[in-house]
Formats: sequence, structure tokens, C-alpha cells
Amino acid sequence: MTAKFLILITVLLSASVLQADNVLVIQSYSPDYEWTKQIQQGITEEIRKSCPETHIYSEYIDAKRVSSEKYFSEFFEMLNTKYQYVSDIDLIITCDNAAYALLKKNDETFYPATGLIACGINWNQTNLLENWNRPVRVFTEHPMVIETVEVVQELFPKRKLAFLCEDNTISGRVSIELFEKHRAEFPKDLEIKYFTNGTLKQISEKLKKNRDEYAILLMNYQRDDEGIYYQTEKVVEIISRLNIPAFVLNYTYMGGAIIGGYPTEPFQEGAIAGKFAGRVLNGKAALAGQSVVDSPHNKLHINLDNLQKFGKDCDAIKHRDPVVSKKPLTAESLINIIGWYSLVTLFLVVIIAILVINFTKRRKAEKKLHSANRYLDTLVRNVPGAIIRCDKEFKCIDYNEYAAELLGFGKKEKLNGKHFCEVTAAINLTDAFDSIKKAIDSGKEFREIFQFPGSSRYYDIRVTQLSSEESSETEILCFIYDISREVKMRLEIEEKKQELERSNSDLEQFAYIASHDLQEPVRMVTCYLDLLESELDSSSQEIWKYIKYAKDGSERINSLIKDLLSYSRAGSNEYEFKAWNLTEIVEESRNSLNPRIDELEAKVDIEELPMIRCDRTQMYRLFTNLLSNALKYHKKDVSPVVIISSEMKDTYWQINVADNGLGISEEYRDKIFEIFKRLNSRSEYEGTGIGLAICKKIVQKHGGSIWVESNSEGGSTFCFTVPII
Ligand code: ADP
Repeated sequence: MTAKFLILITVLLSASVLQADNVLVIQSYSPDYEWTKQIQQGITEEIRKSCPETHIYSEYIDAKRVSSEKYFSEFFEMLNTKYQYVSDIDLIITCDNAAYALLKKNDETFYPATGLIACGINWNQTNLLENWNRPVRVFTEHPMVIETVEVVQELFPKRKLAFLCEDNTISGRVSIELFEKHRAEFPKDLEIKYFTNGTLKQISEKLKKNRDEYAILLMNYQRDDEGIYYQTEKVVEIISRLNIPAFVLNYTYMGGAIIGGYPTEPFQEGAIAGKFAGRVLNGKAALAGQSVVDSPHNKLHINLDNLQKFGKDCDAIKHRDPVVSKKPLTAESLINIIGWYSLVTLFLVVIIAILVINFTKRRKAEKKLHSANRYLDTLVRNVPGAIIRCDKEFKCIDYNEYAAELLGFGKKEKLNGKHFCEVTAAINLTDAFDSIKKAIDSGKEFREIFQFPGSSRYYDIRVTQLSSEESSETEILCFIYDISREVKMRLEIEEKKQELERSNSDLEQFAYIASHDLQEPVRMVTCYLDLLESELDSSSQEIWKYIKYAKDGSERINSLIKDLLSYSRAGSNEYEFKAWNLTEIVEESRNSLNPRIDELEAKVDIEELPMIRCDRTQMYRLFTNLLSNALKYHKKDVSPVVIISSEMKDTYWQINVADNGLGISEEYRDKIFEIFKRLNSRSEYEGTGIGLAICKKIVQKHGGSIWVESNSEGGSTFCFTVPII
């Protein structure tokens, strides 16, 4: 009671508000049924076009699910209650047979004077038209089963026809009747099998076994014998899975793998009724006296993709002018598609390649990073020094085992979070902390070597700041190396060096004193030998010989003493450095050797030589030694030729003394600069073996070096360097 009352209030209220025409649409099925949706849409769109203000009431019987007499009478009772007080329902539209039949039954009671437009009425149900009290116009629906079977025949002439429709629906029965009426027009061998009962599952199983023999013609099949109700899409899906060429008589079943057919189109049916309703409401058309009108013939729809799956094309049915949902491929469009496919494929290949490359790169980078981390980890663990990582507040973040050991902490003891001074308490860096902080704050590295009071241990301490572009976090790294051993060794070396220098200088002192003091007695021996010689009578040849030997010996001792004296002077610190013209010094040295030069018919060329800073006496000695050697060690029967030249190098002069003498084999080129080293016997060439050792000392004292090379003449070139002024 309460529900009815509420419905009434709602309808009364909405009716009182609206002044425009009211149309009541009664649908046979529920609003979620695709067919109903489309027919309703056709009606609404067309009425809105001509009478936009019209209020459209819609009621849905849902005759697909429930079809008992009781349900129909209850539905009408609801309809009557809801609309009995709405006096201005101007037009009623029924869709499909159930709604049409319901209104026919209640023709005299439900708005008896209001006109009716009925659509979706099956073509052979028009008898219902008779005996209406109200003005009526009926639009019938003509299932184009004959034409559709013709199409199936044209495309699949060898296949049997499986006709699927529920036997309890009018449209199904009507379609069968229609086909049977025209059966004779088809070839006799056309086999047709009606599937009107059984479950959809059972039918599918049967067909699946003989899928190559059949073509399907689907009227509709929503509810099977077990009362299971299928949504339209579900039916299409089941049929599509069978992989049998399938055609339909209802447009809402187009989709999936359905090839096509001449289906009735609910939107068109609704649109025809809606268009006519508009004209009636506008007073441009009258209902009474109108005859039944067939819906216009449906179009042939073909889904080319689905047809081609069965190896067929539209050629056989071209004359029917089908609406092809996919255009046949022309050579041009094929190239186009291939072009696009290639482009898309290329694009995908490039994307995949990029992804693969990126992935590989990433893997490589990860591997690299992993091995770098491992390397770093091993390094940090094994480096013979303590490493302490701190945050910018000097709080410890991490440290290596060596640090824990050096700083006297156990391996498991956690230093993290402790202040730098606390961590390094064992080596007491508290005093140095201010300087460390100062250096870090000014972006510098702190480095110092500490000797800890009361211990012989030395530590090299470096504290540096670590900041990266990727991270705003600053870290402080402290390295502590125990360098006690190195320091000890360095000190020892220093001590040894000083000791050596001391003993060298003692030795030089000794050589000087010894040679100096030996000069006098040797001179005395020589004098007395001279005296002895002058007093001796000439009869004893033997005595003469002995005296000569003794004189030779004392002369040799004399020249040895002289050379040793020169050697010790060359090593002394009595050098007086001044700028001198080297040409002058060398010329002077040559002049001193002139008698020997003349004797040997030698040639000594002095090229232009530079001004240098030197001790004149020592430089003179150096050249005299080199020149006299160049004259002395000449080849037999070859007059000596000596050339003295200079070359300017980066920071020094190179002076060359080249001769055409005996030459020096490579293995002796270093040895000859050592004291007393000689390559020839004294009987052949006079000498003490000290000359080149003196030269080396003098060159070293002038900050240069001396060596010997062989030259193209087969002789030797003695080279030495002196700094440029
Ligand atoms: P020495 O008094 O024997 O000349 P030096 O120290 O001057 O002593 O020379 C050492 C040795 O180097 C010489 O004995 C000689 O064998 C070799 N020597 C030096 N100068 C020349 C040279 N210009 N040509 C060949 N050999 C040389």
C-alpha cells in the first residue's frame, strides 16, 4: 500500500510540473537487454528532434526472464496504479510483442482514448490489430531470414545450416515459419537443422564436433532449457569460440567472430516509431485508420575480417551491396599498412634495442660498481693505516679494523657516534683538533707528522673533507699512518750520511797534509841524488844506473804527490766563483801545452765558448787535464786533432773536448773517472790515473756532470756541463 502511494505521489508531482506532452513507452524487455536499449534510444532520439519538451515515461516488462500470466497481471496492476491519475498521457508506444499484447488485453481500461504506436511486432502477428478501441499504428518487423540464408548459401554452398533460436520466443518461431514458407526456393540438398531447445552448452558441443560441416544462423538464444539467461555478448562469445561461420538475424548479435547477415536493427525500428510519434504529437499525422507498416528492409552487414578467416571474400555477394565493416585491402592500402607495420615494428625494435642496451649498460655499471665496492672494501680493510669516517660534526660514522687496533678498541666495540677526539684519545689528538677543524672549515687538507710525547712512535695524520656533487652530505676522512719505522730509518740514513761526509773530509784533509808534507822530503831526496850524481866519477856504470832509477822513482813520487794535492784541492771548498770568458781560459791552457803540441804536430781548435761562472784556477786545471790526455792518448803515427766546442741546452752549457785518439771502449767509460783507474800501462803512457778523477770533482763542484762518448773519428769526446749564467 505504502509503495503504491509513493509511486502515485511521484507520478502526480512530475505530471503537475510538466505542461508538455507526455509519452508512455512500454518495453517488452528489461533495460539491460541490448535490443531494448537500442530501440528505446531510437524512439527517444527521434521524439526529441521534433518535440524536445516531451516527457517520456518508460516501463519495462522484462518478458525475457519472466513470462507467466500472474507476472503480466501484476505488472499491469502496477502500471495502472502508477499512471491512473495522470490524465494527460498523450501517446503510448509499445515495443515488441509482450507490451503490445499487454495493452491489447487492457485496451478498454488503460487510457482507452490514448493513441498507440506499436513497433517491433512480428510480421505475422498483425491479427492483433483487429478490434482495438483506440487509434493504433503498427510497425512490423520482418526478419530477413530468406535473404540471410541466400547469403550463407552463396558464401558456404557446401555447408549445412544450423538454425539457432529459442522455441518459446515469437521471433524464433516466426523466422522458422518464414523460412519454411520459402523452403522450396532453395536447393533441395540444402540441409537445415533447427536448434530450438537444449542448453546452449549442449548445442555448442554438438556443433563443435562437426564444425567443418555447418554454418550457423543465429536468431537469438538468451535462455536455454535449464532457465539460464545469457547476456547478448555471452551468446556471441560462445558462438565465436565454435569457429564455425556464423550469421545473425538480430543486429545486437553482431560482434565477436560473427560474419554478418541481414539483421533486424532495433535502433532503426525505434527511430521509425519515434519519428512517427513526433509527427502525431505535432498534429501532422493521425493514428486512426493507418494501416500496418513493415519496417524498411534491413541492410546486409559483413565483417570482412571474420569472413576472411574462413578463406572467403565478398566477391560472391558483391551484387548485394553489403555494408562491409572492414574495407577490402587494396594494393595501395596494403603497402600503407605494411609501411605502418614496418614503422611500428622498427620503432618497437629500436625501443627494445634501447632498453636492452640500457639494461646491459646498467648491468655492466652495476657489476663495475659492485667490483669497485669490493675493491674499495678490501683496500680499506687491508690498508696498513687507520681510516676513520666522520660526519660534518666530526661524529664517527665508520672505521676500519686497523683503526680499532691502533686506537686500542676491541673489534666489536662500536665507535660510531663518538666524537673524533674521543675516538683518537689513545694518540691524543685533542690539542691538534683546533688546527684540524680550522683547515677543514677553510676547505683545506690537514697534514702533520706527530711524535707522541714519551714514545718513539711517529704518526702521519691527514684529515680531509669529502663532498660530492651528487650528495649534499659532507664527510670527513681521517687517515693515520704509523710511520715510526720510516722515520727511524730516515734518521739513521741522515746520521750515516753525516758520518760519511765527516770521514771523507778527514780523508781529504789527510791526503792534503800527507801529500803536502811528503813534498819536502821527496824534494830533498831528489836534491841529494843530483848532488851525488855530480860528485860521482863516471867509471862505475852500475852506480849510474842505480842513481837513475832512484831519481825516476822520486820523480814519480813527486808527480803522484802533486796530483794527489790537486785532487784534494779540487774537493775542497776553496772555490772562488766569478764570471769568466771560457775561451780565454782554454786558450791559456792550450798555450801552456804548446811545446807538446808542436812536438806532436798536433792541431787544437777552440770554437767560440761562453761566459760562465767558475773558479778560474780549477777550470784551467780541468781543461789542462783533458787537453793533455787528448794529446797523450793519440794513435801511433797520427797527429792529434782536438776540437773544443760548446752547445747551449735548456739550462746549461755542454762543453765538448773531442779528439781523434785511441778512444775508450764502452765498458770503461764510467770506470776511468775513478781515482787511480788507468787503461794503459805506464811503460806506454806516463800517468798517475788521478787526472780524470780531479776533472770529475771540479765539474761536480760547478754543479754539472762529466762523461765520455766515442766520436766519428774513432776517438773520444769528453763532455761536461756547466750552468748558464
Ligand atoms: P792518467 O794519468 O793515466 O792519464 P787519467 O785519470 O787522466 O789518468 O786517465 C785515466 C785513463 O783514461 C788513462 O789512463 C787512459 O787510459 C784513459 N784516457 C784518458 N783520456 C783519454 C783520451 N783522451 N783518449 C783515450 N784514453 C784516455
